[in-house]
Amino acid sequence: MKIRIIVDPDLCIGAASCVTIAPDTFIMNMENKAEVIDHGIMPDAPMYERVIDVTEDERQNIILGAQSCPTLAITIFDEDTGLQIYPTA
Ligand code: SF4
Repeated sequence: MKIRIIVDPDLCIGAASCVTIAPDTFIMNMENKAEVIDHGIMPDAPMYERVIDVTEDERQNIILGAQSCPTLAITIFDEDTGLQIYPTA
């Protein structure tokens, strides 16, 4: 399944818990902001927003990483349905 992950760099305070939990998906940049790692899909997309193809286990792990963010800087969408997966309303 494909998910769209968006990091709001204005909200990111560099706590890095998302990187600790999901290091295959998030990485800290020189500005101490989390970026979404490029998995080859949407290679020209902004570094703070990418669509990646994930397994169910990977999806759950990425959601855990997003849940660990103290500032709710990470938003995740199901790319197929367009529905927001996290945060949920
Ligand atoms: S957990 Fe949130 S604040 Fe911390 S680096 Fe990740 S996105 Fe930024």
